[in-house]
Amino acid sequence: MSWQAFIQSQLAQRKQDSAWRKRICIDFGTSRALQVSGQKYLNFSSNDYLGLSHHPKVVEAWQKGAALYGVGSGGSGHVTGFTQAHYALENDLSEWLDYPRALLFISGFAANQAVITALMAQGDRILADKLSHASILEASMLSSANLRRFTHNSPLALQKLLTNPSKGKTLVITEGVFSMDGDSAPLDDLHQLARANNAWFMVDDAHGIGVRGREGRGSCDVYGVKPELLIVTFGKAFGLSGAAVLCDEQTADYFIQVARHLIYSTSMPPAQAVALSGALKQIRQANDARAQLNHNIAYFRKNIQLDDLRLAPSETAIQPLIVGDNDKSLQLADFLRQNGLWVQAIRPPTVPPSSARLRITLSAAHDQQDIDRLLEVLHGFTIK
Ligand SMILES: *Cc1c(COP(=O)(O)O)cnc(C)c1O
Repeated sequence: MSWQAFIQSQLAQRKQDSAWRKRICIDFGTSRALQVSGQKYLNFSSNDYLGLSHHPKVVEAWQKGAALYGVGSGGSGHVTGFTQAHYALENDLSEWLDYPRALLFISGFAANQAVITALMAQGDRILADKLSHASILEASMLSSANLRRFTHNSPLALQKLLTNPSKGKTLVITEGVFSMDGDSAPLDDLHQLARANNAWFMVDDAHGIGVRGREGRGSCDVYGVKPELLIVTFGKAFGLSGAAVLCDEQTADYFIQVARHLIYSTSMPPAQAVALSGALKQIRQANDARAQLNHNIAYFRKNIQLDDLRLAPSETAIQPLIVGDNDKSLQLADFLRQNGLWVQAIRPPTVPPSSARLRITLSAAHDQQDIDRLLEVLHGFTIK
């Protein structure tokens, strides 16, 4: 098969499956509202749960950081890319989350890849929730370890896998809040099982950090657990980007020796680290914003009337409306857009087959009128 024939057939298949992905160029706006081609929309697709991406204090912190450090880090953290700004942020994070160490990464994707490939070797096994994020599953497949996936949020299914003997190390992985479903994992039960079987427990809390727990400490705080490895990301509630791995001293030292994503990749700009410290300060005192977000979630769930759609059992900012059919999910997203609402349709393979959905995300930046408008338009479609 020629190169052209290969690419063309792949693209044709995508189109046939209504699985064509395209990017849309946003004029501006990443929070409550956005503008596309001069048209304004209420935004229900952003992971900026607390509205921090535009917070004046955070923007100011980035500007101050840039004035002091310039805009780039100049190299990997192993060369000259580890500054006082990075050091201070790592300290702030480890103090906040009560871990001996925090290590910064440029993204959650990189952090998951680095941690999993650095720790796992031939003969080891990874037991991951079936609905784990692509970055976790791909890293697991890239590593030489054996990957087994357990039924979503089922400690029983995990227990069954754990009872199979294994000579190597075992790593159990789940998420605090699942990115496409919005439900949360039974972290206490899962950690207990991992412990009882001498396995380590890793939690990716990309969608829980900042919005749940005391001072926004996330899902682990809610469940009172302390996994050996905690991944937090800054592209969601922090309103920026980047990630950190929380762990013990020796494990952090080990990652610094072997994690290729740290050694062979330019570190985040120091100005971004300054902005992240600023965002963390806001998050710790954002009880009002978290209360507003929870109010919005409860209000949305209480008032939505469902016809042939299904609302996923989620108590978090991620409120998926399961449509099933790919085409129908696109139609609904289009209908919402025509009515000034920006919501993303999510289709397989990002979600399981026949579970295409609208992934509605609520933010503390939305007010009741915004939610009312969303409900009104949604009801207009489902009632037809
Ligand atoms: C968004 C997300 C990531 C990736 O984080 P980035 O910083 O965007 O690369 C990883 N895991 C989960 C669960 C996520 O939702």
